[in-house]
Amino acid sequence: MRNRLGIEIPLLEQLQDEQFSNQEIELWIARLDAVHPLISGNKYYKLAYYLDYALKYSAPQIISFGGAYSNHLHALAFAAKHLGIKSVGYIRGEQPKTLSATLFNCIENGMELRFLSRAAYRNQNNWALQNFKNEEGSVIIPEGGYGNWGSKGAEMIYDDVNGSNYSHIICACGTGTTIAGILNKSKVEQVITGISVLKGYYNLMQDILKLTTNTTDKKPNILQHYHFGGYAKYNEQLITFMNDWYIRFNIPSDFVYTGKLFFALNDLLKTGYFPKGSKVLCIHSGGLQGNRSLLPGKLIF
Ligand SMILES: *Cc1c(COP(=O)(O)O)cnc(C)c1O
Repeated sequence: MRNRLGIEIPLLEQLQDEQFSNQEIELWIARLDAVHPLISGNKYYKLAYYLDYALKYSAPQIISFGGAYSNHLHALAFAAKHLGIKSVGYIRGEQPKTLSATLFNCIENGMELRFLSRAAYRNQNNWALQNFKNEEGSVIIPEGGYGNWGSKGAEMIYDDVNGSNYSHIICACGTGTTIAGILNKSKVEQVITGISVLKGYYNLMQDILKLTTNTTDKKPNILQHYHFGGYAKYNEQLITFMNDWYIRFNIPSDFVYTGKLFFALNDLLKTGYFPKGSKVLCIHSGGLQGNRSLLPGKLIF
């Protein structure tokens, strides 16, 4: 079956383990990592409305922002090429001597790369407004696809994974756009939990609620202590956990988002966060291409 984006409906996989069955908890994984080899995970969903708009108004180009291993730019370059739209990626930091594998793929897919100093990058919205006067009609996607269009796209994840079948849904949070989409679709009684991968991003809840259309004042549970030192930071404990998780369930993860998500999930299962009888859905949001920034051999998958 294919969804409205033309991609395969993600696989829902139930994890079988004595630990969960003893606790009378059902645990399901939405394998968004497996929906497409290049536009894996949540990114195509978050891009969908921006891409629709660019097509509808024949925008000359789509512009966005990201780091050297950005899953977002990686997905955007491929999707834009597929639809015949030019894409431009503003990259944080000066141009390195050798490009990352991710940026190399972006170029292969026709994305024009422009490197921005870190100071200009930090100020990207003001900067973009001043500099894009000559690029009229361009569609500008904020970093990570944050915004109402992004969360509206993420709402489709809930439908594709039959989100209403679960008592609990848990996912990783960067900008919070994905969880906002899920929250918007969720029923009052469903518990939605987000694992923040950024350190000290205390406005995350507020930024999620800015994208909320749910009229029930419903809030997600945001857990802030599984970031392993901050965005894209990791240690041996995380890497060992990711390898063990792969051996245990045959599910690969990435060290920036989903490794931390599964670590948190495992911890929450152990500490009784999910009551007996829970039906838990964990969203594997993809991101595996980013593991190419690790030294070869660290991960066994
Ligand atoms: C981008 C990304 C996220 C974060 O999504 P947000 O909508 O920004 O919260 C989570 N997981 C993976 C693998 C990602 O690439």
